Amino acid sequence: EAERRSRAERMESLGHLAGGVAHDFNNMLAIIVNYTDLLADEVTPDGAPDLARIRDAADRAGSLVDQLLLFAKREPTQVETVDLNDVTQEAGELLRRGIGCGIQLVCQGYPGPIPVRANRGRLDQILLNLVINARDAMPDGGTVAIEADLTEVRAGPRNPVTPGPYARLTVSDTGTGMTPEVRDRLFEPFFTTKPADKGTGLGLSTVYGIVSDAGGHITVESAAGIGTTFVILLPLATDPLVTEPLVRELLG
Ligand code: ADP
Repeated sequence: EAERRSRAERMESLGHLAGGVAHDFNNMLAIIVNYTDLLADEVTPDGAPDLARIRDAADRAGSLVDQLLLFAKREPTQVETVDLNDVTQEAGELLRRGIGCGIQLVCQGYPGPIPVRANRGRLDQILLNLVINARDAMPDGGTVAIEADLTEVRAGPRNPVTPGPYARLTVSDTGTGMTPEVRDRLFEPFFTTKPADKGTGLGLSTVYGIVSDAGGHITVESAAGIGTTFVILLPLATDPLVTEPLVRELLG
């Protein structure tokens, strides 16, 4: 428990640090973008492609900063009761189309709504990050499976969460797996094993932040050469006042 707390505190302070840097960085980026646009009106046509390159790099830096700010939780998000089953099916459909050839995405549905208290966009982000990582771990193709269901966590000495009903989101792949060293550092911000133009190392730290904000828990199991499975538990929304309208809406 003490270890879990110190880990959470470390993530929290890294988040604050990252948020502060991102904020200042954003201001400087705005200056670069503004002056580039001003110059664009003055240069000759042969100078234009160079300016476009500067502008392009600034735009990419900007979207990295957006990711950072999201990780640093500077952006407040609206929490509502959402159906994890619905979110998973929809994201699965979308991701299946874009995932690329050689990779099969299977999406296991649940025969009913799975109400959780969360922000829908952030749940999408979890799925997107996990599926992109799965794809990156399967350079020679393979299968990524996503599944949403319900589970009951019973009281036990080694339980990371309080006992009760939970929504469970599982994302597994048949990829390269990872070494124990990588697995230990996986959720650290900026930890990546990918080349600089592919990985930021912010994907899983963002996922970790979203899950713990929602009172949930994430675990990973991985075997080299066999694949990796991420399991996320989110507390089920049980307030009937909240869940009833959702269920009614779902039943039409
Ligand atoms: P990024 O994807 O930008 O590297 P992440 O925080 O999402 O950042 O992931 C950190 C690292 O964890 C990755 O660089 C990779 O080494 C490892 N990793 C994440 N997901 C998987 C997976 N499904 N299979 C194997 N390794 C993974």
